[in-house]
Amino acid sequence: MTADGRCAVIVGSGAWHVLRGEGGFVLGPGAPRPTPFGSSRPIFEAHLPGGRPVLLLTRHGERGYDVGAWAVNYRANLWALKDLGADLVLATCACGGIDPALAVGTFVLPHDLIDKTTRRPRTFFEASGLGVLRHAEPFCPAARKALAEALAEAGLPHVDAGVCVVTDGPRLETPAEIRAFAAEGATVVGMTLAPEFALARELEMCYAPLAWVVNPAEGVRDRPYRPDVLFEGMATEAEQASADAAAARVPAVLAAAVDRLAPDRSCHCRSAMQRYRDDGRIGDDFRTWVERPAP
Ligand SMILES: [Zn+2]
Repeated sequence: MTADGRCAVIVGSGAWHVLRGEGGFVLGPGAPRPTPFGSSRPIFEAHLPGGRPVLLLTRHGERGYDVGAWAVNYRANLWALKDLGADLVLATCACGGIDPALAVGTFVLPHDLIDKTTRRPRTFFEASGLGVLRHAEPFCPAARKALAEALAEAGLPHVDAGVCVVTDGPRLETPAEIRAFAAEGATVVGMTLAPEFALARELEMCYAPLAWVVNPAEGVRDRPYRPDVLFEGMATEAEQASADAAAARVPAVLAAAVDRLAPDRSCHCRSAMQRYRDDGRIGDDFRTWVERPAP
């Protein structure tokens, strides 16, 4: 646990162009990092608008959707960021709007999550009984508050609460599934926040998503099928423009949020494993918390 850890940004789909766009991140050198769970995505030394250095990683690739949400090596990515000193992870997430009140382009700061994924390694501790951790607040409350203040200050449309349901993909959801998710309390749907959020908690990193709505979820709006466009027409051209405009604001919002986050922020994330430490089951170095597979 460090009081002056580094900040990491995980970039998801819908935000690739901000990697190289005007007002976006300034990318330095990057390289994949070996971990006990395989190789991470390339991790770049980058700068947010205003110059603050961050570690930057893309879930799906630097050019497009080359690695599907179902194929992301979440464990390697989180482990590598922790290994490089990150104690804060802000994760971007393009999502579908289940709550009909959420217009495309609206930013959402989920406070809770429903994990519907089934085929993804979801813990670092498969070989032990570690990791039975409380998730009353799945996302870091301090980071969520900073993001909310940054969005408010920028005058961007946003809601500072929501429930994100996470699906496996690759297919998108059916109308009946979306109705079921709505009945369970979900307000947005995405494919990547799980198991990412729980893996960050296992490594005692603060983790919070910055999500924005890129299309209404299936069945929420009547949309004709169009085989020639993204997601076969779930969003209108005007909505796609709104989603792109929101994505373009992401780097500045992240920068403003990080500026607001004190290194000594009061949250429980960075002592999530404390009882195991107190019991003597783990030491201070997280690298010793897992049994390394034979090479
Ligand atoms: Zn935290």
